[in-house]
Amino acid sequence: MSLIMNDIKKGIQYAFQTSNNMTLAMSGSGHTAMECAVFNIVEPGESVLVAINGIWGERVAEIAERMGAKVHTLFKTPGGHFTNAEIEQALAKHKPVLFFLTHGESSAGLVHPMDGVGDICHKYNCLLLVDSVASLGAAPILMDQQNIDILYTGSQKALNAPPGTAPVSFSERACHKMFNRKTKPVSYLLDMTHLSNYWGNDGKPERIYHHTGPVSGFFALRESLAIIAEMGLENSWSHHTEIAEYLWKGLEDLGLKLFIKDKDLRLPSVTTIAIPEGYDWKELLAYIMKHHRIEFTGGLGPSVGMVLRIGLMGYNCNKANAAMVLAALEDALKQCRKSKA
Ligand code: PMP
Repeated sequence: MSLIMNDIKKGIQYAFQTSNNMTLAMSGSGHTAMECAVFNIVEPGESVLVAINGIWGERVAEIAERMGAKVHTLFKTPGGHFTNAEIEQALAKHKPVLFFLTHGESSAGLVHPMDGVGDICHKYNCLLLVDSVASLGAAPILMDQQNIDILYTGSQKALNAPPGTAPVSFSERACHKMFNRKTKPVSYLLDMTHLSNYWGNDGKPERIYHHTGPVSGFFALRESLAIIAEMGLENSWSHHTEIAEYLWKGLEDLGLKLFIKDKDLRLPSVTTIAIPEGYDWKELLAYIMKHHRIEFTGGLGPSVGMVLRIGLMGYNCNKANAAMVLAALEDALKQCRKSKA
């Protein structure tokens, strides 16, 4: 099992484009990595800045608040993104120890620009935490080059593994902060002093039992990381972009409006459509599920009632599926129109 875990570590280092030693997979879903990062980096009373432009920032703000951090937020409605100048201003004002940003905002369908953000954070002695659950493997993210201090993802999106494991990596700076705390993290299960030993990252000769890892999930994660390494990250990114562009063109041909107007800011793995006028979005989803057996979703958190969402990622990301989705939508648009005017 230790050898399998070592392979997973190497696979994550490749997928994240990092040489961080403190790289591992959490036993749990994306939320586990989210909580692990916040619980280990932040001490009660410390200031945290959270960028909220969809549900994931909301979640992290709540997690940080629950463990007693002083939470400050940068806010945009779903679909919005933050300029580096806005981020810098907030960092200068609140002097947080940690700044959270979502790379692939799956509730809004937005991929957030990352260039320069890490440098700005370091200028203000702040660590950068990034969520790439919905984007890893679908849109470029380069942990070391982009100076990201903590990056996490989930196993079940573009990586195609079953849910239940969550890759995460910590930079040297992040390790320095989390291993020089005055207080113990609120969670025993997610305490990185134990997890770093469990993953053989602390340099000690012996790995001591900490908890029972999801071994079948680890086997599957190792294979999924091997598949992405064989395919190559660049190929995975360009494949997702190609299928997404095919889908976007098809949606526009149906007369639909994409929720994220700027093509460069669209998340290839999750496409959001503005709810077309004259339709009840719940009826559209129910119709497509009943007659085409395809699950579309509405918005999530603050984007509920604003968008319809289509996920095409990893194994599911291919032209045949995109075409099937377009045909289902075309039919639903014909059948579900409310105002005949
Ligand atoms: N972040 C993002 C961007 C996500 O899309 C998701 C899952 N939809 C999560 C975090 C949470 O991951 P999980 O459901 O695996 O806990």
